[in-house]
Amino acid sequence: MNTGRVYLVGGGPGDPGLLTVRGRQVLEQADVVVYDHLVSPRLLDGVPPAAERVYVGKEASAHTLCQDDINRLLVERARAGRTVVRLKGGDPYVFGRGGEEALALAEAGIPFEVVPGVTAGVGCAAYAGIPVTHRDISSAVAFVTGHESDATLRSSDASSLRSTSDKPDSALDWDALARWKGTLVFYMGVANLERICANLAAHGLAGDTPAAVIRWGTTARQQVVAATVATLPEAARAAGVRPPAITVVGEVVRLRDRLAWFEARPLFGRRIVVTRSRAQASDLSARLEALGAEVIEAPTIRIEPPLDPAPLREAVRDRASFAWILFTSASGVDAFFRTMGEEGLDARALAGIRIGAIGPATAARLAACGVRADLEPSRFTSRQVAEDLAATADLRGAAILLPRADIAPNTMVEDLEARGARVRSVVAYRTVLDPAGGEEVLRRLREGGLDWLTFTSSSTVRNFLAAVPAEAVRAAAVRIASIGPVTSATARDLGLAVTVEADPHTVPDLVEAILRSA
Ligand code: SAH
Repeated sequence: MNTGRVYLVGGGPGDPGLLTVRGRQVLEQADVVVYDHLVSPRLLDGVPPAAERVYVGKEASAHTLCQDDINRLLVERARAGRTVVRLKGGDPYVFGRGGEEALALAEAGIPFEVVPGVTAGVGCAAYAGIPVTHRDISSAVAFVTGHESDATLRSSDASSLRSTSDKPDSALDWDALARWKGTLVFYMGVANLERICANLAAHGLAGDTPAAVIRWGTTARQQVVAATVATLPEAARAAGVRPPAITVVGEVVRLRDRLAWFEARPLFGRRIVVTRSRAQASDLSARLEALGAEVIEAPTIRIEPPLDPAPLREAVRDRASFAWILFTSASGVDAFFRTMGEEGLDARALAGIRIGAIGPATAARLAACGVRADLEPSRFTSRQVAEDLAATADLRGAAILLPRADIAPNTMVEDLEARGARVRSVVAYRTVLDPAGGEEVLRRLREGGLDWLTFTSSSTVRNFLAAVPAEAVRAAAVRIASIGPVTSATARDLGLAVTVEADPHTVPDLVEAILRSA
């Protein structure tokens, strides 16, 4: 068997949009993804559903796998011929232990590539309104570890700090840092903020030098505390800043007053619940996030395999007997291709069969599986689909396969049969209520940690209330946005007070309604 390849990929500091194009490409090809605590879960959305996902790290203090085990895992999976993506926060070679992993791969003779990422020191600073260099203000930037064991920070006595330790590359030269003519960026230093600032001051850095700490930079939870070297530890403590955070020291921090674009967006800091299944891409979430909101997707519905897998498997085996396969959802595409995979088949097995995709998300998922749909109906009602299909082909006697959800209404089958088609409808997946998805929402409701709930249909209201009691919603000061009168009526019937309603009843107008009263 041929040896696989390992990609050491930087996922960027948090905002999933900061993943590089190359990074996304290799994630889409991954057989195995090995990822860390600081990696945004969103980055895994593009990973093929069949890929193995290995989570290897919680916080710095509680690694779920030690470094040697991670190195071994990468080597082992690559030797088994797999394409392995080692996904890390920020850049893999900036305090990411990527260097160690690359050395282990080189030593084992495993081919590897490095895909750099936006490191937190640059990305978080930029989102906080701080350019790390500026022609007139700062001509150099230093990335420094503030981690205790790496940085010999323990003593606050300046003279003892000056002595080099027996691990020279992990000891910081505080004299040089204090004299540094430029910007200093400390990683992993929140717990040691007091010592870092004291050390800099003890070695001669002016106490009124501007300094800022940035927590969860580039995400909707970004928190920035700007002060001076003398006052930052107290200010950060008062603001409750905890890891992950970077500390930026230098005159460039002053520019934040004029350049803090990220926090200036209209919904920044608003925590908004979007109710839908996690597997579904969400236009609403994307729009809210673009305006700065933190979106909590409450997956009160979960996608599960059918209770009886046989009908789908048989349909896959009989595929050549169908003139058309009509996919009605991305989840249906996933289920169908998973079953094909189990049968040892891939996209080529669909050659000669015409494929229909209802809705852009379904077409996109098919495209990701290597299949371009022959038909994408203009509208998504079952009648319209039957009409569009009939316009491209004679449906009389045509065999059509419909891989669908267990709860799909029967209208599609009826409308196709009314035009003479022979329809085989198989359950490709089940949608089940997921009370676990409600737990985080419930916890945050009780803590007062949510600003809005959004409902885009009556079923999202009902599903949500199956997981979260209406009293808990009423007890919290959370506002409710509904897409239209039918959804609002359902919400009211079930005991919720609707704050705003979209008019017209579209997702963009729902966002508008929130913006107007935010
Ligand atoms: N390889 C990463 C750094 C890993 S070390 C990179 O290039 O960014 C982990 C440290 O990075 C954290 O302790 C914190 O100091 C910093 N960090 C990573 N993501 C961050 C974020 N979104 N906001 C603030 N600091 C972050």
